[in-house]
Amino acid sequence: MKIVVDFDKCKSNALCMAEAPEVFEVRDDNFLYILNENPPAELRPLVEEAARVCPARAITLQD
Ligand code: SF4
Repeated sequence: MKIVVDFDKCKSNALCMAEAPEVFEVRDDNFLYILNENPPAELRPLVEEAARVCPARAITLQD
């Protein structure tokens, strides 16, 4: 699984971080950082939920 974020769409509102803090982090500079672009399979449900709640539809998963 590979995580791709369209940073042009991202609004840095940290909703993804609330779902999957192991993978997504919005820092004090107000930018989103991907902590792990290739997370293990057990995190997939959390990452899918993060993608679902993203209002900008900025997160996609690739197998
Ligand atoms: S939920 Fe979407 S818009 Fe918000 S920080 Fe995450 S990727 Fe960006």
